[in-house]
Amino acid sequence: MRVLVQSLIVSLGLVSASAAVAAPKVTATIPAVHSIVSGVMDGVGTPKLLIPGGASPHTYSLKPSDAQALSEAELVVWVGPQIETFLVEDLDTLAPKAKHLAMTGVDGITLLEIREGGIWDAHDHDHGGHDHDTHGHKEHDHDAHDHGEHDHDHAKHDDHDHEAHAKHDDHDHEAHAKHDDDHGHDHDHAKHDDHDHESHAKHDEHHGHDDETDGHVWLDPRNAVALGKAVADALSAIDPDNAATYAANQQAQAAQLGELDAATATRLEAVADVPFIVFHDAYQYFEARYGLSAVGSVTVSPDVAPGAARIREIQERIKDRGAKCVFAEPQFEPRVLTAVLEGSEAKSGVLDPVGADIDPGAAFYPALITKLADDMIACLSEQS
Ligand SMILES: [Zn+2]
Repeated sequence: MRVLVQSLIVSLGLVSASAAVAAPKVTATIPAVHSIVSGVMDGVGTPKLLIPGGASPHTYSLKPSDAQALSEAELVVWVGPQIETFLVEDLDTLAPKAKHLAMTGVDGITLLEIREGGIWDAHDHDHGGHDHDTHGHKEHDHDAHDHGEHDHDHAKHDDHDHEAHAKHDDHDHEAHAKHDDDHGHDHDHAKHDDHDHESHAKHDEHHGHDDETDGHVWLDPRNAVALGKAVADALSAIDPDNAATYAANQQAQAAQLGELDAATATRLEAVADVPFIVFHDAYQYFEARYGLSAVGSVTVSPDVAPGAARIREIQERIKDRGAKCVFAEPQFEPRVLTAVLEGSEAKSGVLDPVGADIDPGAAFYPALITKLADDMIACLSEQS
């Protein structure tokens, strides 16, 4: 009897203890990362999504409820300092209990350097078929990086602005708001540049080499697989009781993403050589993975409206390279695109790197990649 009571007490204790730890408290930043985490946690719990669909992680700022979620989190999964810039300075303070897992830092991830100035050379398609090996692309990207700029100083300068923007929300928000108020140009731009130069200098001290990495790593499904593995490992360390579930979920996810990747490669083959312009340089990983032919971006900094000179530059680029399509993004002002397309034969399309219209959850990521491919094909294919 005594044994029975004891074991009852023990098992009751276990039940309440495991109820308390059954689902680790996990916060994921953007819906793509949240989706990968959701897949790994399937059957155990649900991560919290920090940045809701439709918001750009470049311009997001934390709400009080976000701070609450972060303060309780045991694991925070984010893309990295290049993307969720609002977290960079404060993550340790905001999420003191949590392990921080940055997608850009996980094992097995493919990283590409940022492309400067928003005017790039197209990829050579010498790697026929689906076997776009990483090494080849890296070499190629390096080439484009070295030889692709007409106007190197200008490009560099723009690029600094982008990074500076990345780290200094306050300055940039101010400048941006000002800029929007009076759609005006030269005076504001000068102001803007001053701010950005300052903040860039500051930024360098803190982050050094990270500056060279393009942070939009989630748009290569193989990177999503690498993230899933790292998430399963991190969760298993926090919650060993469910390690087998995390491992099984991760393997199923890797298989599903492998199929998605192969199917996407096949679908995009027909349009791989068709030149196009994107709104901001968010798609390099997608382009590199599927051998696509982006030749430039309308803006070099996601929240700074391009001025008249930039618009002329892009219009020339469309002509020179025979760009068939210019893609807008739902997170940014469409009127810029209207100006770019004026007098051009290029069509307009929409690409959404964060997936504003897709429901968050495990199925989000495959839907995001599929929708990007759909939207590319819709604008780039000969039939359309
Ligand atoms: Zn971006």
